[in-house]
Amino acid sequence: MRDFSMTDPVSHIRRMQPDHPAIYFCPDVLQATAARFRAGFPGLVTYAVKANDRPEVLANLVAAGLEAFDVASPAEMEAVRRAAPDAALHYNNPVRSRVEIETARRHGVVSWSVDDAGELEKIADAALGGEVAVRLKLPVKGAAYDFGSKFGVGPEEAAMLLRRVVELGLSPAITFHPGTQCADPAAWVSYIRASAQVARKAGVRLARLNVGGGFPAHRDGGAPDLEGIFAAIGAAVRDSFGMEAPALVCEPGRAMVAEAFTLAVRVKSLRADGRVYLNDGIYGGLSELRDIGPTDRLRVIAPDGAARTGAAQTRVVFGPTCDSLDRLPGGLSLPSDTEEGDYLVFAGMGAYSLAIATHFNGYGLGEPVTVARL
Ligand SMILES: *Cc1c(COP(=O)(O)O)cnc(C)c1O
Repeated sequence: MRDFSMTDPVSHIRRMQPDHPAIYFCPDVLQATAARFRAGFPGLVTYAVKANDRPEVLANLVAAGLEAFDVASPAEMEAVRRAAPDAALHYNNPVRSRVEIETARRHGVVSWSVDDAGELEKIADAALGGEVAVRLKLPVKGAAYDFGSKFGVGPEEAAMLLRRVVELGLSPAITFHPGTQCADPAAWVSYIRASAQVARKAGVRLARLNVGGGFPAHRDGGAPDLEGIFAAIGAAVRDSFGMEAPALVCEPGRAMVAEAFTLAVRVKSLRADGRVYLNDGIYGGLSELRDIGPTDRLRVIAPDGAARTGAAQTRVVFGPTCDSLDRLPGGLSLPSDTEEGDYLVFAGMGAYSLAIATHFNGYGLGEPVTVARL
């Protein structure tokens, strides 16, 4: 094995000519993003493990000082415990089997979210002494897709659940998720105002408010203004809660990890009519190009590392499997001098790429290559 930890994706491609989709991980970028959240967010920064549960991701977040993680399943609890035996586990999947609840109790989960009276009774014993956050949902827009359609309760029911949390002797909190890749601070502001109203209606003083994930990554149109969102969150909490301001928690997945990985996929075949066949597609690392739309963070390089610079042309693009659904909707804009054997290098691919890539039809991503720079 040669060591590429001093290199960058283009040098790796030049030397190795990878014929499988190659994913590159830069620990410094991940640690810098964690530092940015910790410096800017006015509360506790946790990480939503589902965005990317690789051990090197968890280890670098622990090294960057993260002490709490949002987990959704027993396997995620175990992954965090391997990286950080003493980390705080926040179990924010509001639907749990009784076996999962028992596993969570054994792992020492300290915070649970709920959106249903029956589910609250199910966890009451296991959560004893801990925090229970009621998951609130509002008809709020601003994200790439809507998270409220699966989890959460409206303000009335949230107030009832919050009262019951207090009756059970648990520490009351509210949580929400404005939807992933949410670039509009107004979504957080609406949720924070509504959370204050729910708490007031319930007659409960919140110990904590978890403002979710949803922070945007840089996909297109320039780097998002995370500090602007942090400032809007801080101001909305002061305005809405005044002297009763709860401690804040955030749980970014995407915005924490996206920038730390770059994906390089190769052109397998270029047809006379302009259609392009890649060695990765919607079943691999590119599924979000289907689910939340295109990214402009793409460059094309020749196998010798030289950038292709021809005029942009929109191409029909297929992935490698024999499934006809394996096509990127809308295609991709590629330089006119793109050739077979070239590499498409996508920046900002750390979130929901490795975590959901399959090996369908014998394709899929290899192990991440650690690099010094992206
Ligand atoms: C997925 C998820 C997150 C992370 O969302 P991002 O949009 O990736 O930041 C945070 N909290 C909960 C409860 C989630 O399900």
